[in-house]
Amino acid sequence: MTQFKLTTPVVLIIFNRPDTTAKVFQAIRQVKPPQLLIIADAPRLDKPGEVEKCMAARNIINLVDWKCEVLTNYAEVNLGCRERVYSGLNWVFSLVESAIILEDDCVPHLSFFRFCQELLERYQDNNKVMAISGDNFQFGNNTTEHSYYFSRYPHCRGWATWRRAWENYDNQMQLWPEFRDSNWLENIFQNTQTVKYWSQIFQDNYQGFNTWNYAWLFTGWVHGKLTIIPQRNLVSNIGFSPTATHTKDVNSKFANMSVQEMIFPLSHPPSIIRNIQADEFTEKTMFSGSLQFQNVHCKVCGSISYKFDTAKVLNKYNVDYFQCSNCGFVQTENPYWLAEAYREAIASSDVGLVSRNQNFSLTTENLILNFFNADGKFLDYGCGYGLFVRMMRDLGLDFYGYDKYCQNIFYQGWEGEINREQKYEIVTAFEVFEHFINPLAEIEKILQQTRNILFSTQLLPSNNPHPNDWWYYALEEGQHISIFTKKHYL
Ligand SMILES: [Zn+2]
Repeated sequence: MTQFKLTTPVVLIIFNRPDTTAKVFQAIRQVKPPQLLIIADAPRLDKPGEVEKCMAARNIINLVDWKCEVLTNYAEVNLGCRERVYSGLNWVFSLVESAIILEDDCVPHLSFFRFCQELLERYQDNNKVMAISGDNFQFGNNTTEHSYYFSRYPHCRGWATWRRAWENYDNQMQLWPEFRDSNWLENIFQNTQTVKYWSQIFQDNYQGFNTWNYAWLFTGWVHGKLTIIPQRNLVSNIGFSPTATHTKDVNSKFANMSVQEMIFPLSHPPSIIRNIQADEFTEKTMFSGSLQFQNVHCKVCGSISYKFDTAKVLNKYNVDYFQCSNCGFVQTENPYWLAEAYREAIASSDVGLVSRNQNFSLTTENLILNFFNADGKFLDYGCGYGLFVRMMRDLGLDFYGYDKYCQNIFYQGWEGEINREQKYEIVTAFEVFEHFINPLAEIEKILQQTRNILFSTQLLPSNNPHPNDWWYYALEEGQHISIFTKKHYL
C-alpha cells in the first residue's frame, strides 16, 4: 500500500449516528483523499435528541487534518433516505467525474480505496459497467481465480461510480409501469416466485418506499448493466441495530461481516460476463430465496412485509412479527397457537370487560336511535359471552350474537346467523378486528350481512412500537394477531 496514492474524491453520507460515523471517518483519514464530499440529512424534529446527534455527526468532519478540500451538502429539512441520497449524489456528480461512496455505518478495509480507484480508471469509458462494489456476500462460495467478478446486483454499502452511470439513475422509476406490464421480469428470471418477489419490490419502490437502492438496481437492470464485485469482502456494515432505518436485525448474517485485504496487482477477468452462479447464490441468500422474507405479503394491501420483531407469545412460542412496507399493518407468522390461545376465549387479563360493554352500549344505542332504523335487526360479531347483546336487547333493540370461539352465556336463543337472506341494519364488531386471521375475507363476510359496520380496534401508534413495547399486542394471551394502522382508515 505504500506507493498507492488516493486521488479519487470520497463521498461520505451521514445522518444521526456519530458513533459509527467516527469509525468510517477513521478509515477515510488513513487514506487522505484530496477531496471529501459530505452529504448530510437534517434531523427529524419529532425525534428527541436527533438534532444533537446530527450535529455530533457533522462535527466529526472538523477532524480533517490532512490536505483536503472538504465540500458539504447539508439538507435543511429532513428529506429521508431516498431523496437525500438522490439529491446528494446529483450534487456530487455535478462537481466530479467519479467518486468513492461510503455511508456512515460502512467501514471499509483500506485496500477498498485502491481497488475502487484502479477500476474506476480501467472501466471509465465502458458503459456496460455501472459501479464498483466493495461488498462480497458469497461467504467464501463461488470463488474464481480473478480479483473480482461481474454481477447484476449493485451492492452499495461501500462503492464507487461515475457521473456517466449516475446520470441514468431514475429516482421515480418511471419505466416500471411499462416494464411491469410486459414480460420483462419473466425474461430475466425463470422462477415465478422470484418474478413475484421482484414485481412486489419494484412496485413498492415505485409507489415511494423510502429506499434508493432498489431504484438504482432497477436502473441497472433496465439498461442491462453490471457491477464489479470483489472476490473478497472489503466493507463491513456495523450499523445493524434495532433503531436503524432498514438494517434492524442485529443477528443478520450480513451484519458486521469481516473484511479482508484485496491483493494487488489485481487480476482482471478477460471479459465482462456476468457470473451466473454467484448471482444465483445472491438471489437465494439475500433476495427472493432468503429465509428472512419467505415472501410474506401484507394481508391487507398485498405489499411485501418485512420482519419486524420476534416476541414470546403465550409465554412460550417465539413468534415472528412482520410489518407491511406500504401500509404498516403488523401481522404474525401463521398463528398455529390460536387453539391454545382461545381455550379460554375471554382473556383473564381483560378486567375492562363490563365497563367497556357499558360504554359501547350507550354509544351504539345513541347512534342507532339517531341515524339508523331502530326496528331493524342487529348482529354483534365476535360477541364473546354475549354481554353486549344482552344489554342491547334490554334496551329494546333486536340484537343477535355471533362468536365462533366463545361460549354463549348471555344470548341463548338469540344466536345470529351468518349467510342469512335478510340483511342486518348494523353489524357491530368491538375489539374483534385484531383477532382476524384473514382480515379482508372476514370483513368481506361481514359486509355480505350489512352495509354498516360499527367497530373498534386500537390502531398502531405513530411511534411504531414493537410487540414488547405496547400492551395491545397482548403477548401473554396470543389472540391479537392483526394490528391495523391509521393508514387503513384515512
Ligand atoms: Zn399493507
